[in-house]
Amino acid sequence: MALTRDTLKNIIGASLKAQLSEQVIGCDECLEMVDQFAEHILDGKEIPEALRLVQLHLEGCPPCKDEFEALLTALREMDGSQ
Ligand SMILES: [Zn+2]
Repeated sequence: MALTRDTLKNIIGASLKAQLSEQVIGCDECLEMVDQFAEHILDGKEIPEALRLVQLHLEGCPPCKDEFEALLTALREMDGSQ
């Protein structure tokens, strides 16, 4: 099998994906960072790499997503009352 540019790209792409899934965080880590994540969302800031893991976790974990949405609502209400 000849290694073409596309083959290489596929191999690299696959290993990057594997790396990313190894980095998936648990609920504890997610909840530790979720307030930072919510602040970035509210401020409309770009989400840094570390917080993308939170985003990834929230997409696959409904209980944490509920937590995040409650936090977002609370933060919005706090902003409104200041
Ligand atoms: Zn979770």
